[in-house]
Amino acid sequence: MPHSRQIHLTRRPQGLPVHDDFALVDAVVPDAGDGEMLVQALIMSVDPYMRPRLDADQALGEPLLGGGIGRIVQSRHPDFTVGDLVRHGSGFREMFVSDGKGLTKLHPDPELPLTVYMHALGGTGLTAYGGLLETGALKEGEQVFVSTAAGAVGSVAAQIAKIKDCYVVGSTGSAEKAAWLRDEVGLDAVIDYKAAPLAEALAAATPNGIDVYFENVGGAHLDAALPRMNVRGRVPVCGTISSYNGTPQAVYGLFNLIYKRVRMEGFVATDFAPLSGAFMRDMTGWLKDGRIKYQETVLDGFERAPEGLIGLFEGRNIGKMLIRISD
Ligand code: NAP
Repeated sequence: MPHSRQIHLTRRPQGLPVHDDFALVDAVVPDAGDGEMLVQALIMSVDPYMRPRLDADQALGEPLLGGGIGRIVQSRHPDFTVGDLVRHGSGFREMFVSDGKGLTKLHPDPELPLTVYMHALGGTGLTAYGGLLETGALKEGEQVFVSTAAGAVGSVAAQIAKIKDCYVVGSTGSAEKAAWLRDEVGLDAVIDYKAAPLAEALAAATPNGIDVYFENVGGAHLDAALPRMNVRGRVPVCGTISSYNGTPQAVYGLFNLIYKRVRMEGFVATDFAPLSGAFMRDMTGWLKDGRIKYQETVLDGFERAPEGLIGLFEGRNIGKMLIRISD
């Protein structure tokens, strides 16, 4: 029987998770039975949403919840063949037996690297696409602000806004990320919020106000954006990462929503399933013609998943944070 490892949560983190909150556990995986298959994990995603789940939804002593791309290495399932690539949400396990529930076959475009299906052509890309175009109701030529603009979701949202001929300001937390956004991605203005006072920098970078603030951070970022919002502006709330480790994040400027008639609305990626066809067509084209650029921060080794998750909250990733397990 094949051998495998799993990442378990061993205790609830207090604030920012630490390595001792997790354990690497050996597991024996049975062979695939009738109607089952054995899946080998190739690449896995670590995502900010995993952190709030560690406080309650994630069971202790069980594989960490998460997903990625895997390959079928044994199949006794009529619909799957050895060698098929699948998307899965089966948690942090190097190998696992599946009856096919929750697996989706992946037919990657041979002209694109497989890893893009983990970000621009995956959940974070769809989040950016639907959050900006549907929830944010973006119109051509508008004034846009995107926080965590060098991250997986933010970098795609910022570039879709550029494709729609908008004036786009991005915020990020390092000089290296700011340089990429300015020099390669071509945003109109970039704020390194760790190097300059955010509210002043945002006011200077948005002389015509903000029609759409694509919110990824919360707290001080939201407070900096609210006074800059234009009448009938929209704030699609994708995430509030600054609050995920339990640090209270005060927001003082909500009154700006009133006179400016601003609409603030949260969403989850799965809301945009009906857009999947248009999204895959548009994004594949934009990636191929270079209108969407991307970065990846790839950690080699299954055991590095906790390091990757913690790193998201320390700003260690540029573009999508990925864990590479096998080729
Ligand atoms: P990401 O932006 O690729 O990675 C996280 C980044 O957040 C870090 O690199 C860091 O970038 C920034 N960050 C971390 N702590 C911060 C803090 N305290 N204040 C300000 N910035 C901080 O991650 P992602 O997957 O693209 O997710 C971005 C946001 O989208 C998150 O809020 C996430 O929860 C949300 N999201 C929502 C959905 C949905 O369905 N609604 C789906 C996916 C993601 P800097 O160095 O630039 O600070």
